[in-house]
Amino acid sequence: MANLSLKHIYKVYPNGVKAVSDFNMEIADKEFIVFVGPSGCGKSTTLRMIAGLEDITAGELTIGDTVVNDVEPKDRDIAMVFQNYALYPHMTVFENIAFGLRLRKLPKEEINRKVLEAAEILGITEYLGRKPKEMSGGQRQRVSLGRAIVREPKVMLLDEPLSNLDAKLRTAMRSEISKLHQRLNTTFIYVTHDQIEAMTMGTRIVVMKDGFVQQIDTPRNLYHYPGNKFVAGFIGTPQMNFFDGTLKKCGDRVEIAFTGTDACVTVPYSYFYKTRPGYLDGKTPVIIGLRAEDLSLDPEVIASSDAVVKVKVSHKEELGNETLVYGDINMEGDGFTESGTRVIIKSYADVAYQAGDIVDAALNLEHVHLFDGETEVSILPRIPDNNDVDCEIADGKLLFLGRELTLPPAVHAENGSGELLIPTDAVSLGGDIPALCVDVENVSGKTLAAFEVGGRRLYALLDVEKGAQVKLSLDMKKITVLRGGEEIVRPLPTVSALDGMLKKEKTVREVEIDGKKKRKKEIVFNLEIGGAKFASPDLITNKLISALSVHRAFTAPLRFECSPYDIAFTQEGIPAIVEEVLDYGTERFARCRVGERDVIVFADIPVEGEVHLSPDFDKCSVFESELDIRIV
Ligand code: ADP
Repeated sequence: MANLSLKHIYKVYPNGVKAVSDFNMEIADKEFIVFVGPSGCGKSTTLRMIAGLEDITAGELTIGDTVVNDVEPKDRDIAMVFQNYALYPHMTVFENIAFGLRLRKLPKEEINRKVLEAAEILGITEYLGRKPKEMSGGQRQRVSLGRAIVREPKVMLLDEPLSNLDAKLRTAMRSEISKLHQRLNTTFIYVTHDQIEAMTMGTRIVVMKDGFVQQIDTPRNLYHYPGNKFVAGFIGTPQMNFFDGTLKKCGDRVEIAFTGTDACVTVPYSYFYKTRPGYLDGKTPVIIGLRAEDLSLDPEVIASSDAVVKVKVSHKEELGNETLVYGDINMEGDGFTESGTRVIIKSYADVAYQAGDIVDAALNLEHVHLFDGETEVSILPRIPDNNDVDCEIADGKLLFLGRELTLPPAVHAENGSGELLIPTDAVSLGGDIPALCVDVENVSGKTLAAFEVGGRRLYALLDVEKGAQVKLSLDMKKITVLRGGEEIVRPLPTVSALDGMLKKEKTVREVEIDGKKKRKKEIVFNLEIGGAKFASPDLITNKLISALSVHRAFTAPLRFECSPYDIAFTQEGIPAIVEEVLDYGTERFARCRVGERDVIVFADIPVEGEVHLSPDFDKCSVFESELDIRIV
């Protein structure tokens, strides 16, 4: 039994394929985690890195309390089950299951006991004397599960174990594996490209695409709160309907217009509290997502609905207990090709529609999903990044939501109106903005509080109770003000980048051995940044060499990312020019120029002109810039 931690894991294959990028996840003991995604998205590579069958290019993998990047597979306390069973054909089932235990030289009685126990759990006791070729696919997969169970691993890794089985057997084995997980009380990590397998088995699912994690969540949350269009389309059958459209706020309602059609429905504005007002302008393209069960052909539902659209039926798929009706909300559309107007509706079994019929369909907009037309990221997020409110800047004062705040010297802009973006994590308790907490939502362990301020909603990640009357303050370092689409006030960058390289130098040092002075040759490793040289900490040198190979480690361009608090003004170091001091009232920062880059440094002492900077390498992140891999 063990928990796992994957921190900034990357895999770059020797041929340059970046199969996994910046994979981060904490897996609790006894979880059943499923990695799912289309072929080639990096699922197996990630699993194989956990197993130790594939080197980890960069990042840190911990099993239990041990960093296992350099631990041999056999010493990782894991067991792996593969798609092709990988059984020895000349051995009996008993011998196959016992094989690993024999290698470990366990006493005979113990081997017998363990094999019989595993066979009992898996229901294959009567086949122990058979050879694999005398068994069905499902039975063989049970044998390979048996071989994994007897090792009593801390973590069970399963790589598409059911994909060689027929559909019926797959369903049966799915529940067997879930049962096995409950019985063994071990952490399971399971790879599949089949979203139904993922949804039915996982306690949490990792959806991957092109080497990047798209979303990590429970099956329920993935279905109801997909973070982007890819996840929305990948999870659930039939696939979610996606329509092109625009949104327009009219008073306390929002009009949803479906592009390329006459369809237009309205919903209460309260659905869109978390959406940036910019999307509600009637012209910004959005993607409207509705699951097949959220459209209804039922006359009763249609009669009581105020969101009805016309659908031209093209064909249907009868599934016995229900029928999927295909069509198009564009009367010219064909209903077969996936498009921004094609629609699939889940209906009762005996619908009598014919191809070409034009019917009414009611939309259940309580379950509507919305995505940015370009980035395809959800614009109805569970935790919005920003609150977006109108503001006015007037003589060093910021006016918004009926409040007036004095701006610190670092935040200045010409008088006029604008759009103020307040990140949900920039709001804290203890200021002078009175607010009433009107709602509290627990989102994956975080508390999102909705406040009423000046007749509007303001979201903040704060632990308060519903109904609480509080006073809020804003972190002025984090706000943005937009005017005419341009940022006239920018947030203070949370990290700054410095470019550099790792260099090897031979030096000669005088040492005293047995009372005699001797010259000793030594190799030292330096980080050269902006013309300054720093002794490279062993951790950075070692990680660079192990991730990039010896040659690349000394030729690759590196990027050091540091928070303003992790760079200091020093006597020697990277030469820089102070271009501006940013005074936020309680804190001051200096914007320094280093080569082509701006570097923000916390300035607890007065600074100006030419200065020298030294990063705290224990706290910086180090990236290889060409492939953009985080090494440390
Ligand atoms: P999945 O399991 O999601 O189908 P993989 O992890 O097998 O995906 O592969 C991810 C990417 O890495 C793919 O582009 C694949 O072609 C590539 N890849 C996998 N194994 C190797 C390898 N040994 N050498 C080079 N590229 C590989």
